[in-house]
Amino acid sequence: MPDKVQRVKGVNDILPEEAAKWQALETVIREVMDRFSFGEIRPPIFEKTDLFARGVGEDTDIVSKEMYTFSDMSKSSLTLRPELTAGVVRSYIQNNLQQVSPVQKLWYEGPMFRQERPQKGRYRQFWQFGAEAIGSPNPEQDVEIIALFHTILQKLGIAGSVSLKINSVGDSESRANYRTALQDYLRPRLADLSETSQHRFESNPLRILDSKAPNDKEIIAGAPRILDCLNESSSQHYSQVLKMLDDMGIAYVQDDLLVRGLDYYTHTIFEFTSDALGAQDAICGGGRYNDLVHELGGKETPAIGWASGIERLLLVIDAMQPLETKSTIDCFLVALGDNLREKAPGIVQTWRNGGLSCDFDTLRRSMKAQMREANRQGAAYAAILGEEEYAHGEVQLKNFETGEQTAVAIEKVVSTIKS
Ligand code: AMP
Repeated sequence: MPDKVQRVKGVNDILPEEAAKWQALETVIREVMDRFSFGEIRPPIFEKTDLFARGVGEDTDIVSKEMYTFSDMSKSSLTLRPELTAGVVRSYIQNNLQQVSPVQKLWYEGPMFRQERPQKGRYRQFWQFGAEAIGSPNPEQDVEIIALFHTILQKLGIAGSVSLKINSVGDSESRANYRTALQDYLRPRLADLSETSQHRFESNPLRILDSKAPNDKEIIAGAPRILDCLNESSSQHYSQVLKMLDDMGIAYVQDDLLVRGLDYYTHTIFEFTSDALGAQDAICGGGRYNDLVHELGGKETPAIGWASGIERLLLVIDAMQPLETKSTIDCFLVALGDNLREKAPGIVQTWRNGGLSCDFDTLRRSMKAQMREANRQGAAYAAILGEEEYAHGEVQLKNFETGEQTAVAIEKVVSTIKS
């Protein structure tokens, strides 16, 4: 026997039973996006590598070690998207979306690719859905985008088991102030920091706050706080965001060590986490990125967005409030005898065209085996077609719930079942 080909490490097969849960989740996402007046955008799965190097940041974990990068026939360096904010912004600029309306509210869903060490809730191909509001600098936009994800959680019935952490990294002036203050504090302690943190001291000191190394954590505990370095306007922006969240009854915890792993954030940053997950407890992360549109070649345009991991969200939903899924069919046609088997595809087609979900046997099995298959599929009805019924243009329609069986004209099956 030839060897079986195995799937690549860190990727998943989503089988039909699981896919039904994805669809139920996607229905909720679409409904809420629609209520919030966000339009769907579907950018390509691969982009020029340069987009991520510039957009996400050379020094981030994603760009420095996790990207699936390859060259095509023309020797261009291309990368499977590790996230979608950079792609959405590229598309926004390239398609002049600012001319369509001064605020563009966009959402997306699709697979992302990162070469991370696989574990529960962390995969190399994983799905995200996300939202980006491009064009408004004001705190009400921050609050709307947070309320959008919160509403999705509420509709899924899991808002109570998820917490929102929030922080501000301020504008570029505030961040520069903080960078200096942080470096001044860390400089005399540099030798005690982990190698990764030492490496980040010059290139990206804020990321040191993210370190999980125990010794780093001790040092970080005494570090100056970014909120103390925010300038007047950054501080005001942040307090307005918090006040509006309070007014809307959206609970949050301020976490002044939250910096998030991507370079492009300014002002508000946030993360939703769940206790129902293990080490990988973040189900959504986002923030403001007021400089990114300009850095990628567009006009200065403020923006804010988030992305959420679908697999992780489904793990939380499974633990808290399993989604209702329909995996049954309306009717299974049980055709008896070779002559009638030939009629089965045509008859089932008319019922399907009429709006029923139905199925029939293509393995030429016995009546008993066909009835067993109808049961396995959870059919509400079996439509039994024998020579005598066919001669009268009828089937015997068996209701599995009541056990009743009646003769029904083939063309009346749809209306009978629907009624
Ligand atoms: P990020 O783009 O890193 O801010 O991630 C946003 C969200 O995507 C996280 O909160 C997770 O829910 C999800 N996510 C990120 N990386 C992975 C991964 N490797 N596997 C599964 N989900 C992920």
